[in-house]
Amino acid sequence: MPERTLDVVVIGAGPAGLSAALILGRACRNVLVCDRDTPRSWASKAVHGFLTRDGIKPTQFREIARRELSRYHNVKMLTVEVTRARKIADGTFEIALGMRRVKCRKVLIATGVMDRLPRIAGIERFYGTSVFHCPYCDGWEVRGKPVAVYAKGESAVEMARAMTAWTRDIALCTNGSKLSKTDLLKLRRNDIQVCEQPIRHLAGTGGRLEAIEFEDGSSLPRAALFFDTRCSGQSQLAESLGCRFNRRGGIRCGRYEATDVPGVFVAGNIIKDVQLSIVAAAEGARAAFGINRSLSREDFDRRSTGRRRISHPAVTDA
Ligand SMILES: Cc1cc2nc3c(=O)[nH]c(=O)nc-3n(C[C@H](O)[C@H](O)[C@H](O)COP(=O)(O)OP(=O)(O)OC[C@H]3O[C@@H](n4cnc5c(N)ncnc54)[C@H](O)[C@@H]3O)c2cc1C
Repeated sequence: MPERTLDVVVIGAGPAGLSAALILGRACRNVLVCDRDTPRSWASKAVHGFLTRDGIKPTQFREIARRELSRYHNVKMLTVEVTRARKIADGTFEIALGMRRVKCRKVLIATGVMDRLPRIAGIERFYGTSVFHCPYCDGWEVRGKPVAVYAKGESAVEMARAMTAWTRDIALCTNGSKLSKTDLLKLRRNDIQVCEQPIRHLAGTGGRLEAIEFEDGSSLPRAALFFDTRCSGQSQLAESLGCRFNRRGGIRCGRYEATDVPGVFVAGNIIKDVQLSIVAAAEGARAAFGINRSLSREDFDRRSTGRRRISHPAVTDA
């Protein structure tokens, strides 16, 4: 027997996808949430800056969210990778979960991004404890301490400048890359030390950074390192459906996180806007609002004109 068409498939159960699922569940929609369990925050010890949840472990955050969602029988969660998503002739979507296929009327892609760690020997040992990418997430814990910023090219000054809110003891490390004279002057005038020599490795114990050791034999005591390297999308599902990119390299969306492809919505870090969990959750809620509104309008208009429905909305297994 063919499977019933779902209202929505949410791909990705990070803060964005989980938040969307809650709003959609409460709007009486049949929702399937698919997640392959590779969150961006895999190395993080605590989620900071999420009102009422400041400092919670990311695993606990997801557990609470899943527990809250379990109250809604119309929201199902699957640990599975979505391997393909395509629009089919009747305007619905076919979502491939390995060998299995499901059909849905709207898709929310909340598959996030993954960070690329700088190529520095031993950096994995410190990632999430004293090596970070986001000062808004982890800057407070090292405020006023000696901090290194790892960045190159145009983003180097930007990242060093951003860090000045948290400490005045900043060393910008470019790992062999040279800065322009103008940038060097700006940095010097802001008392930011510049180390352009190549890095040999990071030194410290128990995940706590103590010093940065350079190829030339010098060593710089530091309590933390913040890096600015590119992150990449965790999936190409949005691109494969025909979604376009924004200027930041994220997926372009408009009102209520609707993409250029009708029926496809995005939320969370995939948009590459402010990359905080609370913002991802808010984008998820907004996308859910847009999706529900669109489903209600379609059904209302179809009934108004007396046309046949192409798929089955709303909850049936109450
Ligand atoms: C070290 C570190 C520390 C951080 N600290 C903080 C902090 O203190 N405060 C804060 O606000 N933010 C913090 N962040 C950022 C935070 O993790 C992100 O803002 C947030 O996770 C983004 O949520 P999201 O839902 O967009 O993506 P994610 O949380 O990354 O979730 C995306 C989900 O999609 C799933 N997925 C991907 N592709 C597929 C597929 N094809 N099929 C099925 N599932 C798929 C993944 O498995 C993943 O679970 C930190 C990040 C890192 C790396």
